[in-house]
Amino acid sequence: MTRLFNDPTEFADEFAEGFVAANRHLVRAVPGGVIRATEIPAGQVVVITGGGSGHYPAFGGLVGQGLAHGAALGNIFASPSAQQVYSVAKAAESGGGVLFSYGNYAGDVLNFDAAQDRLRAEGIACETVTVTDDISSAPAAERDRRRGVAGGLCVYKIAAAAAETGLDLAEVVRVAQAANARIRSVGVAFAGCTLPGAGAPLFEVPAGRMAVGLGIHGEPGLSETEVPTADGLAELMVGDLLAELPEGLAAPAGARVVPVLNGLGSVKYEELYVVYRRVARLLEDAGAEIVDPQVGEFCTSLDMAGASLTLLWLDDELEPLWTAPADTPTYKKGSVTRAAVVVEDVATGAASADVPPASEESRAAAVIIDAALDAVRTVLDEAADELGRLDAIAGDGDHGIGMQRGARAGRTAAAEALAAGAGAGTVLTRAADAWSDRAGGTSGALWGVALRALGERLADAKRPSAHSVVDAVGAARDGIIGYGKAEVGDKTMVDALVPFAETLAAAVDGGATLAVGWRRAAESAVAAAAATADLLPRKGRARPHAEKSLGTPDPGAHSFGLIVRTVADVLDTAAAE
Ligand code: ADP
Ligand code: MG
Repeated sequence: MTRLFNDPTEFADEFAEGFVAANRHLVRAVPGGVIRATEIPAGQVVVITGGGSGHYPAFGGLVGQGLAHGAALGNIFASPSAQQVYSVAKAAESGGGVLFSYGNYAGDVLNFDAAQDRLRAEGIACETVTVTDDISSAPAAERDRRRGVAGGLCVYKIAAAAAETGLDLAEVVRVAQAANARIRSVGVAFAGCTLPGAGAPLFEVPAGRMAVGLGIHGEPGLSETEVPTADGLAELMVGDLLAELPEGLAAPAGARVVPVLNGLGSVKYEELYVVYRRVARLLEDAGAEIVDPQVGEFCTSLDMAGASLTLLWLDDELEPLWTAPADTPTYKKGSVTRAAVVVEDVATGAASADVPPASEESRAAAVIIDAALDAVRTVLDEAADELGRLDAIAGDGDHGIGMQRGARAGRTAAAEALAAGAGAGTVLTRAADAWSDRAGGTSGALWGVALRALGERLADAKRPSAHSVVDAVGAARDGIIGYGKAEVGDKTMVDALVPFAETLAAAVDGGATLAVGWRRAAESAVAAAAATADLLPRKGRARPHAEKSLGTPDPGAHSFGLIVRTVADVLDTAAAE
């Protein structure tokens, strides 16, 4: 149970505020996350990590000398937006280029990739090494599809230590890849975690049972057993990890290994040490030499009851980088020569640009768009729990809170732009930026793309006609498909979006008014969203647990249906007036 919070939608931001307030000598807030408070030497490659909040000390707690240079902090369990990632990277970048390293999750990949494109377009070198240590999430033959869990600590630590020895970006990338290739993790859970404000856990494990291979966002486990003894758990985890040694390592005997025994949230340190006692014995019995073991919390999942074991198999290059000193709010090792603390504040870069001129007709349309966004916000507030529940069945449970935050921020930005005299296009593009920035996750990025495409097509001069709306919706559809690469049948929002755009175009071409055409299109979207219950997901976070979602509609398709149906109501009211 997460008991202490204010407004649940503000939880992640309020966490970040308190975290920075308590660690000012080590980290400082920049738009989108935190960077080191200490000076970063000119020309040094910066290692930027990030991900959803709720995994403390990942990711902000791992920022400091010897470890990450910065971390983008998303909403609870939701990827940070591309804008957040970009902004954190820009604030930390010191002339040596940027390495993005983070756990391999669809939403994070989408947003970090978009930020990488933006940095490169500005001439800043940027490369990515995703962490793929979780052996339960895909077979060994498909290692690059695996999720990243507590092993991220090892990759960020080694990459940053390499950067601090003065290696260039290509070399830091090589070392980070080498570290990722030599970590393997396995996790178990006894009880699910509860998002702030939620009435029930994100997922449940039956009493007395243990889910093996469960993801840190509650992605369902791969098998379930009785809860073993502490020794039994150590045997299971060490056994699984010794069964998959990294390439180039024939046997554990004689190898040097760092065990990282990680509590996921509500397993006590005492319990972890009881387990570790047996882990150490088993590794020694296998002939491995234990180096610098770690027992504690490195990547949690709110209050989830569970633990994971990571093995980092060292070699001559990785060992001194792993054992190099570090000083972050949560991870301290050896003795670091403190760099000077930076005094001046980084500019936010978020100056609210003036609203461009707009025609009277376009401003009249902007009033309707603002009303539509307001109605969408209300509907998503009401639907948030249901959307979260749908997403928790095979995904990570954040769809409700992400859509809620996106819609609130989008509406606020739209209303501000409208009050400043903006036309339809500007109201929509402002809403787009605010939505994707605040929502995070895959769907936040995709709704940002869609709203921006609508805004760019409708622009600020002409009165939007039924035909120009058809054209704009087509552009939004192409934008979402171009960005997310999902096709009809992949069990995503695209399954509702495509019939929506087709029905709207057909109705308007056949002479229907916008309100009538939109209503018909919305009905087809709602029906198509419901029909996704019969599909298996092929994209996004739900994919690894495809079969679990059979019988449940796709959350993104469902929310798409809700949104376009709500807009139909607003268009009907506007037409009646
Ligand atoms: P995340 O998957 O990052 O947790 P959300 O939970 O907010 O983000 O959104 C999940 C929804 O996003 C899915 O139900 C699906 O409709 C949509 N989605 C995921 N990946 C894609 C994609 N590649 N293209 C289109 N839609 C996608
Ligand atoms: Mg999700």
